[in-house]
Amino acid sequence: MQAEIISNGDELVSGKILDTNSQWISLELDELGVEPLYHTTVGDDLAAMTGVLDIAMRRADIIIWTGGLGPTADDLTRQAVADAAGVPLEKDGQSLRLIEEIFQRRGREMPKSNEIQAFQPKGAKPILNPHGTAPGIDIILTGKRCKRLLAYPGVPAEMKEMWQLSGRQSVSDFVKKYRNNNHCIRFRSIHSFGLGESQVEAMLPGIIDRKRIPKVGITASQGTITLRIAAEAETQDECLAKMQPTADWIYKTLEKYIYGESGDTLPSVVLQKLQQEKKTLAVAEAGTRGLLSECLANVPVLKGNAASRDTENSAVFLGGITFPPRQPVALEEMVKIARRIFDPDYFLVIGPYPQGEPDRFQSGETFVAVIDNRSADVQTHWQKSVLNIQNYPFTGHPGIIDDLYIKRVLDNFRKVLR
Ligand code: ATP
Ligand code: MG
Repeated sequence: MQAEIISNGDELVSGKILDTNSQWISLELDELGVEPLYHTTVGDDLAAMTGVLDIAMRRADIIIWTGGLGPTADDLTRQAVADAAGVPLEKDGQSLRLIEEIFQRRGREMPKSNEIQAFQPKGAKPILNPHGTAPGIDIILTGKRCKRLLAYPGVPAEMKEMWQLSGRQSVSDFVKKYRNNNHCIRFRSIHSFGLGESQVEAMLPGIIDRKRIPKVGITASQGTITLRIAAEAETQDECLAKMQPTADWIYKTLEKYIYGESGDTLPSVVLQKLQQEKKTLAVAEAGTRGLLSECLANVPVLKGNAASRDTENSAVFLGGITFPPRQPVALEEMVKIARRIFDPDYFLVIGPYPQGEPDRFQSGETFVAVIDNRSADVQTHWQKSVLNIQNYPFTGHPGIIDDLYIKRVLDNFRKVLR
């Protein structure tokens, strides 16, 4: 089953705004097991819009359209859909009342031009738009390959809300009917950090073979390698059972490199573990411009942080200690300060972060210490309370080096928390 996603607007084709709607809808369709084969973008020109619709109707089973449902003269989607479907536009009384209501709620007179938004191609069903004046269009098509078209407003927030309210379910039902069975598709995404894409492939031979069942996809993003297993079956339980042996194989092979699944991120996993253990955290970073603190800013277990832009200034808040605190007494001094100010369970000390142009610090080293503040008397047994010290070389593309650095720190901390 193939879908085509069409986005409409002069702003899109002129490059003034980026088409994020199509990307978002593609991800949604993928979750439903629908393969989008084309993304088409078309400006506000009726002939061009009808033209791309005509092509799409011949090569896709379902079309999802966004944009051009507003009240102005350049909003031509209603007309284009009607023309492509070969039906006239008709006024829908219910839609008109809803649009009038929206203006009443806003305390404004409805301009005459908004009436056009209540028009739908004959035979179409309006799609409710709770926070906007543009209802969507849901129309059954005949005659060509495409059997269904759903059109949404271009405003991303409205489009997403409408999709979540009804669109996802409509398409899911359509897919089931189309396939003529209780078709179900489920995914499991397993995230790892610390291995390269080719390393993962070599460790799991044949895992991404296109003919493999269940199918596994691999994606790499800023050091994170994700393996996504997809299974199709009649029920959700059957899907999950089909995926289990593959998931077991991945877990057994990648082991400690795996930090989570689905929506898990390194910060979210660290947060979860700290919350489970009812533990708090403080962070001191030298020369990082607060990279780590920034990514933990919404973590409620973070009691506080100290960060500096450059390594020299960090000496001030870290008690005049030169970084990195390789000498026991220097680290000990820092822990004392952290105790006095924040009194956390864990204390993460990182830095120095190399200064200057990224390519100048490709071979620099940094210091990362995870300190369990309660486990020992730091004054006399500082070594015992330091759970993990690492020196990382700086490597990676300058554009992602900050991100990689913080991921390494968090991954290291996650492993200590296990
Ligand atoms: P409106 O009633 O707001 O005019 P509409 O359906 O006519 O709704 P458009 O005029 O096409 O929507 O787009 C409204 C705004 O939504 C655009 O100015 C743009 O900011 C945003 N937008 C439209 N299409 C997209 C898209 N494909 N990706 C991201 N943003 C979009
Ligand atoms: Mg518009």
